[in-house]
Amino acid sequence: SAAPLGSSVIPLVNKLQDIFAKLGSQSTIELPQVAVVGSQSSGKSSVLESLVGRDFLPRGSDICTRRPLVLQLLQTKRKPDGSEEEYGEFLHLPGKRFYDFSEIRKEIQAETDREAGGNKGVSDKQIRLKIFSPNVLDITLVDLPGITKVPVGDQPSDIEARIRTMIMSYIKQPSCLIIAVTPANSDLANSDALQIAGNADPDGYRTIGVITKLDIMDRGTDARNLLLGKVIPLRLGYIGVVNRSQEDILLNRSIKDALVYNGLADRCGVPQLAKKLNQILVQHIKAILPGLKSRISSALVSVAKEHASYGEITESKASFSSMVEGKNEEMSTSELSGGARIHYIFQSI
Ligand code: GDP
Ligand code: MG
Repeated sequence: SAAPLGSSVIPLVNKLQDIFAKLGSQSTIELPQVAVVGSQSSGKSSVLESLVGRDFLPRGSDICTRRPLVLQLLQTKRKPDGSEEEYGEFLHLPGKRFYDFSEIRKEIQAETDREAGGNKGVSDKQIRLKIFSPNVLDITLVDLPGITKVPVGDQPSDIEARIRTMIMSYIKQPSCLIIAVTPANSDLANSDALQIAGNADPDGYRTIGVITKLDIMDRGTDARNLLLGKVIPLRLGYIGVVNRSQEDILLNRSIKDALVYNGLADRCGVPQLAKKLNQILVQHIKAILPGLKSRISSALVSVAKEHASYGEITESKASFSSMVEGKNEEMSTSELSGGARIHYIFQSI
């Protein structure tokens, strides 16, 4: 399956978290939330699943996502024997571990029905699911109901406005990254995803365009101009993906290889999307580094003071100040103590 989200940021975030832990600091690194937006059945849930690399969300040609699903990925340590354990736990079922991901899907469906009824109703009450795995980054993904225009089943007449308000409440947060999903077989100029993302993030600093269903475009058309941003430019650009079709899901076929346009390999496929998200996360970490650095420096100063009060001032003082100023560059990372190591990491990204 796809490259797990966070593969390149995990080591960096882990190193920083280790340093905080050693310093006894409460600081942690908060990564932004990532939300998917778009019309109903555009492929939002499919894109999220591909990013996580597991099959567990309700998907289909009808309205499937009817409540916001807040999916918290939590990185766990590999077991001593090297084996890995991945499981999910719902907030509404504390202590119950789901090791079978198809059971997670069933529980999402059942819990959706409990709150929003069995007849296509939509509710803004969240379902909260934690996925524990050694292969993920500590990040929160939000799967949202798609934008629909015509009420069906038990939906109220103002369903479109209600869903839009629900989506905006997530994506207007300045720290939320927006994955705006548009299928390749619809007109980008009519894209609900780009329209609502544009309202929340007019400068496009936190919106990534994703074009799904490249496999079922009209014959004779191609997505090249979409992916190149020639139709509607987007600051962070577009990635094209091919998720599983309904037939693939029914026949239990695995995720397909992405279709790659000649010369556009860097704009196609879920691994490229994960890579792009990783780059944005690294940018985010860079932006918050100065604040983290000063928190660490002051933690070091207070540790140094405590040390001094034990009467070991002469030798430790020198090493603490060199840590803060980062004069230990010739040392290997493993030899470095907390402060020096963080300096090393600051320099390396
Ligand atoms: P959502 O409503 O936006 O969350 O969309 P889903 O992820 O539930 O997908 C809606 C339907 O489109 C499902 O039947 C998927 O199998 C299908 N689908 C999603 N992405 C693709 C794709 O890239 N190609 C094809 N052929 N079908 C897709
Ligand atoms: Mg969905």
